[in-house]
Amino acid sequence: MERIYIGMGSNLADPAEQLRSAVEALGQLPQTTLVGVSAFYQSDSLLPGQPRYTNAVAALDSSLSPIQLLDALQAIENDQGRERLERWGPRTLDLDILLFGDRLIDEPRLKVPHYQIQERAFVLYPLAELAPADLHLPDGRTLADLLAACPFIGLERLPHP
Ligand code: ATP
Ligand code: MG
Ligand code: MG
Repeated sequence: MERIYIGMGSNLADPAEQLRSAVEALGQLPQTTLVGVSAFYQSDSLLPGQPRYTNAVAALDSSLSPIQLLDALQAIENDQGRERLERWGPRTLDLDILLFGDRLIDEPRLKVPHYQIQERAFVLYPLAELAPADLHLPDGRTLADLLAACPFIGLERLPHP
């Protein structure tokens, strides 16, 4: 079993409901236990002209391999109507593997830790609800280091669903 953190995002078709459905689907993955879910957060899209995003982070314990998990996450995205029209386009559901135990993965289909983890307040602040501040990334930085360099700007933490 390894501890895995999943970043979830939606900005189409009732985003909060999309995230609730995704959480339910994560809870049903084989060889996997859903350990926790952060609050939901809203923020403006990184690209102009898109609806606001709702984001959250889920923690899993799983014995799936990283690629098995990626396949399962992409199946959940597809089940929830994800269409891949343009890169970073609006989406019903995005499920990204943020961290997978202490693994460093650099494969064509999968880079872990997620390459933008340190840039994204909507990832780091929900992650901090689930993970200890002294959580180490494979490169030695701690979650506290990343938070200190990423101000809580433009995020709105929603009351618990
Ligand atoms: P971003 O990666 O900037 O958050 P995105 O999530 O919108 O963008 P997607 O269209 O969801 O990007 O995924 C594009 C590809 O990224 C996927 O087909 C997948 O193979 C690859 N990928 C690489 N690393 C990861 C990861 N850690 N989690 C999920 N997908 C990943
Ligand atoms: Mg993403
Ligand atoms: Mg993605």
